[in-house]
Amino acid sequence: MGTTYSATIPVQCLKEHACVGCQGKFSYLFTRNIKGSGGTQEAAMANAQRIAIQETNSGVDFHPCPMCGIVQPDMIATIKSSRFWLGLAVSCATLLLATVLGLSQIARINVSAYIAFAGVGFAFISYFLGSFFNPNRNLDRNILASQQKIESKQLMIVEESNASNIVDRFGGMRFKNYIGLICCIVSLVAIISPMLLAQANDWHLNDSIYPAVAGAGDRPTIYLLSKVRSLEGKWRGSASAELRNAADFGLRNDIVPATSQVSKWSGKLKDKQKTRTVWAQVVLPQELADANGKVGRFSISVTARFPVPAVGGFRDEVSKHNRETEIRFSKPHSGKIYYSAWLFGQIAAALLMLSAGVLHLSSVTWLRKQANPITPITMGEIDNND
Ligand SMILES: [Zn+2]
Repeated sequence: MGTTYSATIPVQCLKEHACVGCQGKFSYLFTRNIKGSGGTQEAAMANAQRIAIQETNSGVDFHPCPMCGIVQPDMIATIKSSRFWLGLAVSCATLLLATVLGLSQIARINVSAYIAFAGVGFAFISYFLGSFFNPNRNLDRNILASQQKIESKQLMIVEESNASNIVDRFGGMRFKNYIGLICCIVSLVAIISPMLLAQANDWHLNDSIYPAVAGAGDRPTIYLLSKVRSLEGKWRGSASAELRNAADFGLRNDIVPATSQVSKWSGKLKDKQKTRTVWAQVVLPQELADANGKVGRFSISVTARFPVPAVGGFRDEVSKHNRETEIRFSKPHSGKIYYSAWLFGQIAAALLMLSAGVLHLSSVTWLRKQANPITPITMGEIDNND
C-alpha cells in the first residue's frame, strides 16, 4: 500500500435560502473544514477542492425559517440521508459477514442468523428514525429557536414575509419509506426462518455436527477434534463411520457411508504451513426415517495424508484421527431444509435490504429536489492552509 496524502480546505460562505413555506429569505454563515485524500498531494488537494465546491453549492446547515418555522426540505434530507446510509451500510456489511461466516462454517447457522438479525435490526431502527424524522411538527417552537439565532447573529433575515397558515409538506413519512420498512421486517423474518422452522418442527440441534440438524438422507459434517499442519494447508482424508447402536434402528450393518476432504498436490508447494481441522461427512441412511428424537452413537475415523516440508521439497505424512459422537436425529432431510432456509433467508434479506436502501434514499433525492435553490455567496478567496 502506498502513502495516503490528505489535504484540508476551509470553506466559508454565506448561504441564502428562499423558504418553501413563506417565500421569505434568510441567510447564515456556512463554514466547513473539507478533508480530501489521495495517492499524491495533488490528488488529495483535487479531491478536497471537488468536495469543497460541492459543499459550497449544495451543503446546508440546519436552521428553521425564522419567519414561519419551516425547516427546508434539503436540510431535512441531509439528516434523513445520513440515517439511511448508516442503515444501508450496516445491513449490507453484517449480512455479508454473516453469510461468509456461515458458508465457511466458522460460525454455526444460528450464530450467523443472529449476527444478520442484529445488523438488519439496527438498520431497521436507523431507517425508522430517518423515515419518521420530522422537525416541522412544532413550527412555533422552530420560530422561537431561529429568533434566538437572529439575536445572536447566527441567522439573518434577507427578505421579510407575511407568514400565515403555513403547512408543512416535507417532514415525516413517504410511501417509499413505508415499503422500505416493510422490507426490513420481512428480512428479519427471513433471517430467523431456520430457527422458526426448527421450533415449529421440533428439530434437534447438535453441537457436534454442521449443520446442527440432521435426519435420514442428510450429510452432516463432523469435525474431528484434531488438526493437521501441512504445506498450503493441503490434506486429503479417507473416512469411515460406524453407527454403534445400528441395531436400535433395525439396521443390519453398522457401517455408514462417509467421505472426507479430496485434494491433490504435486510438483512445487509454497513453503507456507497452515493448520486444518480434520473432518468427515457421514451419509445418514434412509432406515433412520423413523428415528426422530432418537440418538445415534457414531465412531468416526479419518486417515489423513498431507504434505510436510522435507529436504528438496516435501514428503507426505499420514495420521489417524478418531472421534466418538452422538447425533440426535430429526425428521428426514430436516438438515437440508434447515440449511436451505438459512441460505435462502440470507439471500432474500440481502436483496430486500438493498431495495429498502434504494427506496429510502430515493425518498431523500425527491426531498432535495423540493427545496428552492440556495444562493451561496463566497467570501473572498478559498485559501489553502495545509
Ligand atoms: Zn418561511
